[in-house]
Amino acid sequence: MLVDLRSDTVTRPTAAMRQAMFDAEVGDDVYGEDPTVNRLQAAAAALLGHEAGLFAPSGSMTNQIGIQLLVAPGEELLLDSESHILAHEVGAAAVIGGISTRSWSSGGGRLDVSVVSESVHESLAYHTVATRAIAVENTHNRGGGTVIDIDQLRRLRALADERGLLLHMDGARLWNAHVASGVPLAEYGRLFDTVSLCFSKGLGAPVGSVLVADAERIERARSIRKRMGGGMRQAGFLAAAANYALDHHINRLADDHVRARRLAEALEPYGVTTAAGVETNIVLLRHPELGKLSAAAAEQGVLISVLGRDQGRLLTHLDISDDGVDHALTVLTGLLR
Ligand SMILES: *Cc1c(COP(=O)(O)O)cnc(C)c1O
Repeated sequence: MLVDLRSDTVTRPTAAMRQAMFDAEVGDDVYGEDPTVNRLQAAAAALLGHEAGLFAPSGSMTNQIGIQLLVAPGEELLLDSESHILAHEVGAAAVIGGISTRSWSSGGGRLDVSVVSESVHESLAYHTVATRAIAVENTHNRGGGTVIDIDQLRRLRALADERGLLLHMDGARLWNAHVASGVPLAEYGRLFDTVSLCFSKGLGAPVGSVLVADAERIERARSIRKRMGGGMRQAGFLAAAANYALDHHINRLADDHVRARRLAEALEPYGVTTAAGVETNIVLLRHPELGKLSAAAAEQGVLISVLGRDQGRLLTHLDISDDGVDHALTVLTGLLR
């Protein structure tokens, strides 16, 4: 038995998802003529309470399109120091968008609007860089799947309105936040000018993300996507998997959360994690020799992710069953004992 807990991106499409892909009605999406892509974009926009959506190959691309819509070259995007946009997009904001970034220090992915507020730079004179937009990540990946508190997000919107700033959400796992908190997706969506959503994480689709925003911004987003090489042709074969995931794989994320909690509770006595910190599908691990632990676990068919010398993580997802959790716990507790 192979139990791959490295990431929620390792899922393979289910038989029913493959069938939906096989049956997809398609057209040329650069011409805007793929009915399956159009259906996905409209469905995602409606769920988030936005006017329109745009399908793209990855969440990095929808993040980059989102921030380029809000921040002009030479202006500043303010975000937390552990965010995906800053830590895992290979400098794209600077290289592609010409965007200047500055960060507040991430507190385990939690959002404290008073900290953000102090970090905002006003445009004082021609020699300053003014903050134009703020980006937040929900759930927070490096924070360990933290759900950002909706009251903090409301305060963030109030701050943005007061200071004339725009807001982007990296919602790669907003589905997990929604399921864990019970806050409607549209309640999150209405607080942000642009939201990026991934289908290739917990939702189990092989490829794809959608950016939602107002119709005027999505029209501009089409050019930015094309410039970045993200215009795809019969992309409906991919969008069909995402449509299937929207219809069938959102509510089941609650099972992933229960399984992550179970992993954390069983591992906590070994001092490698804190179960109380597990809010969604990510379990952070610390162990003095994580590389060795990971290699030994892999020999017994359990794959875990190594983030640093003493840091790692486990993620639950569509392809991790209760039996998989049992097997992982047998192997890991055997090694930690
Ligand atoms: C996975 C992820 C993305 C997008 O990643 P891609 O691999 O480019 O699809 C963006 N933000 C967060 C927080 C993520 O975890």
